[in-house]
Amino acid sequence: MLLFTPGPTPVPQNVRNAMSVETMHHRTPEFEAIFEKTRKALFKLFGSDEVVMLSSSGTGAMEAAVTNLCHHTLLNVNSGKFGERFGKIAVACGLNNVEIKNEWDTPVSVDDILHAIKTNPNIDAIAVQISESAGGLRHPVEAIAKAVKEFNPDIMVIADGITAVGVEKIDITHIDCLIAGSQKALMLPPGLAILGLSNKALEKIGSGKGYYFNLATEIKNQRKNTTAWTAATTLIIGLLEVLETIEKQGGIEKLFLDTDRRAKATRAALEAIGLHVYPKNPATSMTTIDDADASQIRKILQNDFDVNVAGGQDHLAGKIFRINHMGLIPAYETAWVVNSVELALSKLGRRKYDGEANKIFNEILFGN
Ligand SMILES: *Cc1c(COP(=O)(O)O)cnc(C)c1O
Repeated sequence: MLLFTPGPTPVPQNVRNAMSVETMHHRTPEFEAIFEKTRKALFKLFGSDEVVMLSSSGTGAMEAAVTNLCHHTLLNVNSGKFGERFGKIAVACGLNNVEIKNEWDTPVSVDDILHAIKTNPNIDAIAVQISESAGGLRHPVEAIAKAVKEFNPDIMVIADGITAVGVEKIDITHIDCLIAGSQKALMLPPGLAILGLSNKALEKIGSGKGYYFNLATEIKNQRKNTTAWTAATTLIIGLLEVLETIEKQGGIEKLFLDTDRRAKATRAALEAIGLHVYPKNPATSMTTIDDADASQIRKILQNDFDVNVAGGQDHLAGKIFRINHMGLIPAYETAWVVNSVELALSKLGRRKYDGEANKIFNEILFGN
């Protein structure tokens, strides 16, 4: 079965092999050397002033960012489940919360953000997804971050890059906290989250908040290549292998270019056979199609073509399907997925099969 869900994504064979070594004790020079190398590679990937690894799923890093960087009121952007989660975290942690809510296909505007921070002077942090995975949407995070910092440089900008870090180049100039998670673009099993932090964020963190997710405690330890609590040793070994594999396969810039091309080719191919791309501003991480037959298409893909794509949640359940583009994906696999969608439409009697989807896909991928 081809796993084409936008998280979890497939773990490459060499990464699985790297993680099959005997369990290592985390307080050893041997593991600290691996930790140090991984940390160095993460600094390169994030380009931030500090990086922290946490043993948790992505939501743990979202909570750590909110509790350590917001001391009063959090502005969150809800254009989907993950954006909504930032607001829920704030409330659960006793913070105040202002939310900008849009339909799941609609990116937030810079003006709406500016309006919210001007009318709510207590907002001291904003949290937004770069790629909102619920509908495959790209928010204009870099422009938002710039406008927020021009208005008030003390407002912390938290960017959830769980389906963006490793997918596309992110300009972090005005971002204080950039979050990544293991099971999406980083091609690992779930359980590891990473935060890239600015110096301004480090100032605000001070002595940190909370206990397990106290970022000051973690940073103090991780600068010495160890962790406050037991490290996710196996996942960190896997992460180093992933980052080295990306380098060996031409580097991160090449991965960004390849991913962008695959995403564009997929969207154009599916539009060419009459399908509709759901988000108004699609993220590179995935292609989301809204269609009355979404459930049936997913079933045919699974049963007849061994392809597993994701559906939608909440009010989009049964109404969309999402095709992953994150990771080192061979083009022939995505070509198979695109062709399978075309065959599914033919099975549903909607369109006579003529190979159009693959023709367009290949033209964009291999044409000039
Ligand atoms: C997957 C995901 C998360 C984190 O979810 P976990 O299940 O906690 O790993 C957060 N934000 C986005 C945009 C995601 O896609």
